[in-house]
Amino acid sequence: MEKIRMTTPLVEIDGDEMTRILWAMIKDELLNPFIDLNTEYYDLGLKYRDETDDQVTIDAANAIKKYGVGVKCATITPNAARMEEYNLKQMYKSPNGTLRAILDGTVFRTPILAKGIEPVVSRWEKPITIARHAYGDVYKNTEYRVEGKGTAKLVFEAENGTVSEQTIFKFEGPGVLQGMYNLDSSIESFARSCFQYALSVNEDLWFASKDTISKIYDGNFKEVFQRIYDTEFKEKFEQAGITYFYTLIDDAVARIMKSKGGIVWACKNYDGDVFSDMLSSAFGSLAMMTSVLVSPDGYYEYEAAHGTVQRHYYKHLAGEETSTNSVATIFAWSGALRKRGELDHNQALVTFADKLEQATIATIESGIMTGDLTLITTLPNPKKVNSLEFIQAIRKTLESIL
Ligand code: NAP
Ligand code: MG
Repeated sequence: MEKIRMTTPLVEIDGDEMTRILWAMIKDELLNPFIDLNTEYYDLGLKYRDETDDQVTIDAANAIKKYGVGVKCATITPNAARMEEYNLKQMYKSPNGTLRAILDGTVFRTPILAKGIEPVVSRWEKPITIARHAYGDVYKNTEYRVEGKGTAKLVFEAENGTVSEQTIFKFEGPGVLQGMYNLDSSIESFARSCFQYALSVNEDLWFASKDTISKIYDGNFKEVFQRIYDTEFKEKFEQAGITYFYTLIDDAVARIMKSKGGIVWACKNYDGDVFSDMLSSAFGSLAMMTSVLVSPDGYYEYEAAHGTVQRHYYKHLAGEETSTNSVATIFAWSGALRKRGELDHNQALVTFADKLEQATIATIESGIMTGDLTLITTLPNPKKVNSLEFIQAIRKTLESIL
């Protein structure tokens, strides 16, 4: 079979520990034999980030801006223990944080469904995608412990000297106080990313807040979403036959439970924090979850939703067998290759990405899976295989359907 050609480079961002091992296996077994891979490689392994004072992370982000699509391996976010382990010059920021700051995007997480790995909510037939607004609100709050009698006020001093002052509460005894904020510009780009993403997967978009109680703050989120929808996306949604639906957050939760799935659910920062963990647990595991950063300018960065699986890596280093699930990393590659193919009108690449995903799911559904899945599957007699055997089993399935 002739290898598939690529016209535009894909930005390849390598990472750390067990996922770096899986990365190489995936390329050797599932990509290089079938595709004449055209990637621009950035090594975000912690050692090279340290050598370049983290410049490589910034270069990788700019490369995504240049080419439009990237695929990223999980990376270590250094903490005190890592400073010592890698003898680092400084405690570098989270690479995902740096990439997000440069690309200004929203992260969309979608469970990967396979028969035998059943969602806890039996009505969910299709995945539910969570889009979390990752800016402001309670994550950037200012808090105050009130020790006794006194008056709390909300004061805003405009640059031109005008002062607005409102009483929040007259305390008669001890209590607590909190101030938080958000920006129209951030909410606007969040909304654009969500509308853009819903269009790209052809699914309805839901957004919810508590605007009946929080008339100005949450009301602003509601208004911004509605304005961007009406002025920029309404026609495109109608053409695509999908809808934008706003409701109250408690109503959204009740409806999600009764839905069949197949929805993109845009969440405010705190709601997204809470409900993304609920959804990933309800659907199975973080290793069965795709994650993509979509910028409002239309750049895409695909990754796995989990970390570098440190515990398995130390077993691997000690020469022990590992059974690490590579599905999320394989889907990061297939997602990126599909997007590259769509942008380049390279149908062979799009088809390959589809088949790689089909082969991965079919392998699990045939009962061959890694240890994390044998623990939760409803299939009878699942076969637990090691990290490499799992990828090789997918290759066999892939070769049979190509
Ligand atoms: P983790 O890599 O997500 O792994 C936590 C545990 O979850 C593992 O020990 C394993 O459980 C299970 N697990 C996760 N992914 C798995 C997979 N693919 N297959 C099988 N089991 C899987 O989190 P961590 O070990 O706490 O963090 C390790 C490093 O990852 C940290 O340095 C952190 O900074 C980094 N991190 C990076 C990203 C990212 O780049 N996107 C995200 C999160 C964390 P068992 O050990 O019980 O088998
Ligand atoms: Mg959380």
